[in-house]
Amino acid sequence: MVQVDLLTVGAAETEAIGACLASTSPTRAMVYLHGDLGAGKTTWVRGFAQALGHQGVVKSPTYTLVEPYELGNIQLFHFDLYRLHDPQELEYMGARDLFGAQAVCLIEWPERGGGELPDADLVVQLRVTGAHRQVFLSSLTSIGERWLTAAQACLTT
Ligand code: ADP
Ligand code: MG
Repeated sequence: MVQVDLLTVGAAETEAIGACLASTSPTRAMVYLHGDLGAGKTTWVRGFAQALGHQGVVKSPTYTLVEPYELGNIQLFHFDLYRLHDPQELEYMGARDLFGAQAVCLIEWPERGGGELPDADLVVQLRVTGAHRQVFLSSLTSIGERWLTAAQACLTT
């Protein structure tokens, strides 16, 4: 398991971490983003998507639950499960097809998905510490381990 613990100051630094991970991203992976409301999960995803060429805004898909992006050779699905009432809803919305696709899934509030989510390759844990954010990255599979190892260079500069 590879783990990286960073202290960030300002949204731009959270975006930079997302951008760094985007630069070494595999084309298929499952990422859980943990953290309270306002911790910076969507900020991280914004940095990730914009680094892959997305020009517009990136907002939490709070009501639609998922937002798809076509970004060069990477297909991205950004989930926000905050308003998911029952993990079964994921099945009704066809999420299983998205999880099984050749795609990167970035999932806010994965704990709401119960047992319906595939296991994570990478976990991003954001914690508010005063005006700063602690960003803790950890890999849980060999895909995540290779990914995070490759990202070490841009995470530490
Ligand atoms: P979440 O998706 O976790 O609910 P958002 O990304 O929508 O959180 O919002 C996080 C808020 O915290 C935004 O106002 C953002 O500008 C701010 N923020 C993000 N990263 C940092 C940071 N490293 N330091 C200080 N503020 C941050
Ligand atoms: Mg959010």
